[in-house]
Amino acid sequence: MPYVYWCAQCQARSEEPHDRRDDADDQRAEHRATEHGGLTPAAGDGVRVVRAQGRYSCSGSLLFVLFLLAAVLANCWGR
Ligand SMILES: [Zn+2]
Repeated sequence: MPYVYWCAQCQARSEEPHDRRDDADDQRAEHRATEHGGLTPAAGDGVRVVRAQGRYSCSGSLLFVLFLLAAVLANCWGR
């Protein structure tokens, strides 16, 4: 399962998802040490589980096609 570290305070996040949560936690600790003096950012930070990149684009395209179909049908029934 891919993991991404993000920091809400400075909007930083992992460039690429990590396969292991431990790797994302290590990046979190390194970011805190270098950017925030070892402290937890006040606005919060964390490690998130993300889906594979391809699934997002596929489901986004499917939703867009369904939206267009619904818009066309609604327009046709109104006449
Ligand atoms: Zn930060």
